Amino acid sequence: MSERDLEEIDRSSLLHPFTSIGGHLERGPLVMAEGHGIRVRDRDGREYLDAMAGLWCVNIGYGREELARAIAAQVRRLAFYHSFASMGNEPSARLAERLLRIAPGNMSRVFFANSGSEANDTQVKLVRYYNNLRGKPAKKKVIARRRAYHGVTLGAASMTGLPAVHASFDLPLPGFLHTSAPHYWSQGREGESERAFAERLAAELDECIRAEGAETVAAFIAEPVMGAGGVLVPPEGYFEGVQEVLREHDVLFIADEVICGFGRLGEMFGSDVYGIEPDLVTVAKGLTSGYVPMSACLVGERIFEVLCEHSDEAGPFAHGFTYTGHPVAAAAALANLDVIEHEDLVGNARSVGAYLQMCLRDAFSDHPLVGEVRGLGLMAAVELVEDRAERRGFAPDLRVGARLAEQLLDEGLLCRPLGNALAFSPPLVITEAEVEELVERFRRGLEKLAHTLIVEGTWKPV
Ligand code: PLP
Repeated sequence: MSERDLEEIDRSSLLHPFTSIGGHLERGPLVMAEGHGIRVRDRDGREYLDAMAGLWCVNIGYGREELARAIAAQVRRLAFYHSFASMGNEPSARLAERLLRIAPGNMSRVFFANSGSEANDTQVKLVRYYNNLRGKPAKKKVIARRRAYHGVTLGAASMTGLPAVHASFDLPLPGFLHTSAPHYWSQGREGESERAFAERLAAELDECIRAEGAETVAAFIAEPVMGAGGVLVPPEGYFEGVQEVLREHDVLFIADEVICGFGRLGEMFGSDVYGIEPDLVTVAKGLTSGYVPMSACLVGERIFEVLCEHSDEAGPFAHGFTYTGHPVAAAAALANLDVIEHEDLVGNARSVGAYLQMCLRDAFSDHPLVGEVRGLGLMAAVELVEDRAERRGFAPDLRVGARLAEQLLDEGLLCRPLGNALAFSPPLVITEAEVEELVERFRRGLEKLAHTLIVEGTWKPV
């Protein structure tokens, strides 16, 4: 089949996620054909360094034989069996036990789903179930943060704090609230220290809970480092302050570890980095490194105890998916965790991550087009600004971030534009030499964009 044919088939058959419908009909797809290590190749044979690990997920890199073997073996042994009504399969039980061994906080049980969104929706239902069973039916509201990304199903999208995910879908649903994003660079006030900023945000959360009435607020959800909202690293002391407030008001903490989990920040979980003691933990992406879909809700002891105690009166837990605990996905996850452990990819994320952060800051912190270089471990972003001194970003309709991402494609580098920021989240197997290559390609793309913006009169360096 020729290249043209496949593009036409795609254009005339697929509805793509987070894609301009009109734009796609005009431009068509970029179709990837194969991947190895940190690189992917399109159908024309062009190679790209994938600085995003797909969508923040291919932690062990592409083309791992270990995963292919484990998946094939499980398909041959038992391709499917469900988990409803006490039925089970070996890989899902073994995976749950293993997750509980490495999980942050005091986790007691694992509920499997297929995507981060499904798992976060499940968390909302678990929180409702828990409060209904313990006789607090009014305690149901969930507080998230602006710029958070928790997925796109109705509950998850309501927790997501991005206007584009709400507009045209009649969201958020009632009972979902948002507080400020923890971004010191853009939200800190003149003369305010990072710690004072963190204290202000904790106070804002406290006020929000009091204004709503603590008896109506059930949970707070947060990514340790925000991903799709722009790679926002929390200010010093932020999660300490937040957890104090939540404890005071008996509000549960849901840690959304969909991106941070399984090593990205240089610890197994983002909660480990920030001393978060969650009541519920959501994992996905790095759980299988994206080789097959799988997500999970880790359920804290405190919640499971209540579920257990009221089991007879509640009847069966009436929630679950056909593919909850899918044996092939669980086998893939077990093989993925083997690779992460045997190759110490968490340690690699810590050391090569530190190198990435240093190289990005050295190369771009003083660039006239760059307002902030931020990140932790193997998660980073470069924020483009029109005016550095004013910290003023480009107007969204200029699509400056998207244009840089397009320019970077020409340089053979896959980065994700998030408004005016460009995100990096490479596979955890990346080496220092590959980091240097990534930074060099980014530098070339940035210089070309800067030149174009000057020539067309959109921007001038100051
Ligand atoms: N939570 C976080 C932090 C995410 O980054 C994402 C996806 O990017 C999700 C949840 C939703 O996951 P999914 O796209 O698998 O539904």
